[in-house]
Amino acid sequence: MSSFEQLKKNRHKISDIQYAIALLNWDQETYMPPKGQAFRAQQITTLSGIAHELSTSKDYEDLLQTLANNKSLSKNEQKNVQLLNSDFQKAKKLPHTFVERLSTATSACFHAWIKARKQNDFSLFEDELAKMIELQIEKANYYGYEGHIYNALLDDYEPKMTVQELDILFDDVKRELKDLAAKIAQAKKPNNRFMYQDFDGDKQWGFGLQILKNIGYDFAAGRQDKSEHPFTTSFSPDDVRVTTRVKEDNLYDMIWSCIHEGGHALYEQGLPSDQYGMPLGEAISLGVHESQSRYYENNLGRSKAFWTYHYPSLQQTFPDALKNIDLADFYKAVNLVQPSLIRTDADEITYHFHIMIRYEIEKQLLAGEIKAKEVKEAWNAAYKEYLNIEVPSDNQGVLQDVHWSHGGFGYFPTYSIGSFIAAQLEHQMVKDIPNYIQMQEQGDYSAILNWLREKVHQHGKAYSMQELCKEITGESLNFNYFLNYAKKKYSEIYDLK
Ligand code: ZN
Repeated sequence: MSSFEQLKKNRHKISDIQYAIALLNWDQETYMPPKGQAFRAQQITTLSGIAHELSTSKDYEDLLQTLANNKSLSKNEQKNVQLLNSDFQKAKKLPHTFVERLSTATSACFHAWIKARKQNDFSLFEDELAKMIELQIEKANYYGYEGHIYNALLDDYEPKMTVQELDILFDDVKRELKDLAAKIAQAKKPNNRFMYQDFDGDKQWGFGLQILKNIGYDFAAGRQDKSEHPFTTSFSPDDVRVTTRVKEDNLYDMIWSCIHEGGHALYEQGLPSDQYGMPLGEAISLGVHESQSRYYENNLGRSKAFWTYHYPSLQQTFPDALKNIDLADFYKAVNLVQPSLIRTDADEITYHFHIMIRYEIEKQLLAGEIKAKEVKEAWNAAYKEYLNIEVPSDNQGVLQDVHWSHGGFGYFPTYSIGSFIAAQLEHQMVKDIPNYIQMQEQGDYSAILNWLREKVHQHGKAYSMQELCKEITGESLNFNYFLNYAKKKYSEIYDLK
């Protein structure tokens, strides 16, 4: 067996275990009975330990080193080896004892967050958050970094992206979107009261399945189930599952979370099976993953063309609630822009303020400019500054996201990056796909999916995020595409001058 074949065999073994863990996690969020929790946690820990041993073993390291100097490998093989090597070198920087301490602290931090959420009291979370921040600083120091300490953590989620680039990007975002949001605030607010009526759960469910089918989600390689928070998980490109939740008192929640997760799932289903376990079989980054989900959720799923096709069947599904609402009014309600407290409920425009607030606070925490106990104050002040709203309670404010309790520092900017990439990609799609709008109006999304398959999905990690943007659109990530998209769309909806 050649060294590369041996590497593939090792990678398959590691991935088999990691996907088995993913399956156990999926089950835990969907069907596992409550009593199953303790042993399930133990089973996941055991498997994680085995995967960790395999992926940090001396044999594996030697194999990677041998292959790193092998010039007879194909271009793709070399790329796989190079990416695996850099992952390995990075993981090696964290001492084993640190990984264990972090894991224990994460569990304590998460439980403190749950408790604080129950009592709606940030002070119950402060101490564990402070410890978590110390550990994140320690982690950044093990990794090493140039420039801002935040760069070390950001790299885990959006490789190669830096604070220097993000600061420039977010300066533009803040200035331009504040201006746009202010103009919208002056305009007449569309009616959206009809979105809050009784909408039968089973009917919503059926409608969501129909949309997933229409956008090209392959049910022979996936399924949809219910969970507390919607998510997508993959066990291979041939088994990619989505979950959603149904709220019977409003129409906003399920439909667009369905489409959002559908976008993530299409990416996973489109990764090349023959690269199973290898970087060329994996998604590029969280930002690129979000570009897929956000493209489907917003650019497509909140467009007039999309609803020109789907609205009649939605009206047939809920005749009593929607019979007197025409497409134009529905379209406006679906794209209502208004400042809000909760990130996950935010519209396409003000969403990015929520992200910038978290980004600024994280940077200050890691740089030691503010302490954990000052986070609530900083949060509330930022909501006043960015969105001009008062935060009435900790649950609607600083306690709303789970990310920090899981140690997810450096994660939030990827959501905004996703939206910006999506707009840039769509700009190119309009040029490349004939009858881009007309096909959407006819409910045909196959050309869009084929385009994404060809340009994004099939390449796995062959490109970095910025390389992908350049390869497809001729330039690196550029916020102006999102800005132009937003200005055009919302000027029309709100009749802005
Ligand atoms: Zn997402």
